[in-house]
Amino acid sequence: MSLKVYISGQLYDKDDAKISVYDHGLLYGDGVFEGMRIYGGKVFRMQEHLDRLWNSAKAIWLEIPMTPGDLAKAIDETVAANGLVDGYVRLVVTRGAGTLGLDPNRTSNPRVIIIADKITLYPQEYYENGLEIITVSTMRNHPAALSPRVKSLNYLNNILAKIEGLQAGCEEALMLNHKGEVAECTGDNLFLVKRGQLLTPPIDAGILEGITRAVVIELATEAGIPVREIPLTRHDVYIADECFLTGSAAEVVPVVKVDSRRIGDGRPGPVTRQLMTRFHEVTRQ
Ligand code: PMP
Repeated sequence: MSLKVYISGQLYDKDDAKISVYDHGLLYGDGVFEGMRIYGGKVFRMQEHLDRLWNSAKAIWLEIPMTPGDLAKAIDETVAANGLVDGYVRLVVTRGAGTLGLDPNRTSNPRVIIIADKITLYPQEYYENGLEIITVSTMRNHPAALSPRVKSLNYLNNILAKIEGLQAGCEEALMLNHKGEVAECTGDNLFLVKRGQLLTPPIDAGILEGITRAVVIELATEAGIPVREIPLTRHDVYIADECFLTGSAAEVVPVVKVDSRRIGDGRPGPVTRQLMTRFHEVTRQ
């Protein structure tokens, strides 16, 4: 059975799921998106993802042509139509087809696309032994140019950083902000553990407000682990006891080496492992 993809009110076979080459989502990266996880046939933290999608759309003057309730229903139906129990949902809203010019007023019909598919995870080895990352020279978008809080279809900033990381042999790359502070990785947020406290850059460090980040902050707080959202430098990363990344696809993944320096004792630390276990429990309950 072919995978079904939802586009603006209808399900299509994957091979027939197409949009116009005049869509400004393609021509200019003019649109917004979300990446969500399906656990046990249900989308995890759907409401938070919808809120973020609507906020991203509002920031770029894009009106999503349906209500959040109807979109939630369409997502559930697409997940069910594909019989997915564990998987990933990519939600995309494009500006729609228009003329060959930037003017969004000359577009019509924003497309709402829902792709529900299996997920390709990081290899299990990363969760057991930890990931090695590197700081790259591509800095995170300056918030005054394009706020990193907007999850837009224009991901070139992160793609350039990802390429730099891959060229250095690393699956993830650490990006700094315009002030030289630690921001986030190309598709994941970053956490440190220092003397039993959880540290993570604040939103105004120029990062995406990760939904997994928020879940981990909640879980840590419940477990009595103090959490501080404070500006961090690379130095803080190097001297941390533990480091890990969070993201809808990656979940919670330990980092054991940054810029060739061993973090802590070079193995996933106890706080990281505790939070990985808790995260697993809340997603697979
Ligand atoms: N930062 C960036 C740049 C991302 O693309 C993502 C993944 N969407 C994240 C962080 C993690 O966010 P979330 O936990 O909401 O998936």
